[in-house]
Amino acid sequence: MTKDNPGFNTLAIHAGAQPDPTTGARATPIYQTTSFVFNDTDHAAALFGLQQFGNIYTRIMNPTQAVLEERMAALEGGTAALAVASGHAAQLLVFHTIMNPGDNFVAANRLYGGSVNQFGHAFKSFDWQVRWADPIDPASFEAKIDGRTKAIFIESLANPGGTFVDIAAIAEVARKHGLPLIVDNTMATPYLLRPLEHGADIVVHSLTKFIGGHGNSMGGVIVDGGTFDWSKSGKYPLLSEPRPEYAGVVLHQAFGNIAFAIAARVLGLRDFGPAISPFNAFMLVTGAETLPLRMQRHCDNALAVAKWLKTNDKVSWVSYAGLEDDPNNRLQRRYSPKGAGAVFTFGLKGGYEAGKRFVEGLEMFSHLANIGDTRSLVIHPASTTHRQLTPEQQVAAGAGPDVVRLSVGIEDVSDIIADLEQSLAKL
Ligand SMILES: *Cc1c(COP(=O)(O)O)cnc(C)c1O
Repeated sequence: MTKDNPGFNTLAIHAGAQPDPTTGARATPIYQTTSFVFNDTDHAAALFGLQQFGNIYTRIMNPTQAVLEERMAALEGGTAALAVASGHAAQLLVFHTIMNPGDNFVAANRLYGGSVNQFGHAFKSFDWQVRWADPIDPASFEAKIDGRTKAIFIESLANPGGTFVDIAAIAEVARKHGLPLIVDNTMATPYLLRPLEHGADIVVHSLTKFIGGHGNSMGGVIVDGGTFDWSKSGKYPLLSEPRPEYAGVVLHQAFGNIAFAIAARVLGLRDFGPAISPFNAFMLVTGAETLPLRMQRHCDNALAVAKWLKTNDKVSWVSYAGLEDDPNNRLQRRYSPKGAGAVFTFGLKGGYEAGKRFVEGLEMFSHLANIGDTRSLVIHPASTTHRQLTPEQQVAAGAGPDVVRLSVGIEDVSDIIADLEQSLAKL
């Protein structure tokens, strides 16, 4: 790239990738190999001792994966990144790098349902405790912090309804208490919003959604902001104390502003093993190239659909931050002026039965539990993902009996609206 400071569209296509030096291949090759030949024994020793960067074994590092990592670090404005097998694997490795048994972290109570389960149930096996706070009220995070708190975790654009969070206000709480702010930027993507510019220290993604963008490959990434001082408090020993498995190397000292990404790779990924396959890394690199185009179309279509739904007499309410009279519109304009994302909820006057029948009556929309596909997707949470909850819990989770969630795709918006219209007409 000729310019020092390439734009976002250019980075989405070029960051991290060069023509293959041995074959001239222009697209990023899929390096479908488990292992890499050493030059000699000294080279091998330097790689194993972390004195030199290089490929050893695909569980730890692979050239196709490396392109995905550089691309995501560039798009988010971070110093380095680590790509892994899924969004959940990324979250596991982030917390493994900073938590000890008995520690806690404070997380927003409006999160992707899988993250609620991972934090609230699976993490108990490690004796890591989650404390829930309200992302609408930054002070509620402060109230949950104590001497064993290690981090704050939020989604920039929160599930399930698509609500923008005041990242800078929560970053202020984190800074005041010397804690890193970790932001899941899956729903917004760096095209709409870059959390590191608002005070976040670490960004995680499920690449499975809008980055891959075609509903065909799982992946996750951890982006290191390079901003947090891991040595200051002594609370992050994996980063600030000598590592016996690497001959006493202190990772923060040795690697400075990329120490977190290195630690997640050489301690977390190496030992827990959720490596991304080279093929999936290739698919996600390819997806990232069109992220700006797709994301703008997702947002434009979603806004048009939300406006149209408001005019339909079977619909009781529409919650989309892009609508001017939406209570979340002020935060959307501040944090994400290009658009409000693809995912939102609305209510049907006919309640639970209408929700089920509406979903079944759609023809082009796919009824499934995913977001961020090129295709338009729909789910009725009360009869599917949230059916085990009591009616009161469903309402609290934004998944009451009348709620329908859409992930608006990039088809012609007239066809999307026509499908919604014919199904609503049948109610
Ligand atoms: C899907 C999702 C995850 C989990 O990612 P996987 O790739 O499914 O493991 C985490 N956070 C958000 C916001 C998601 O949408």
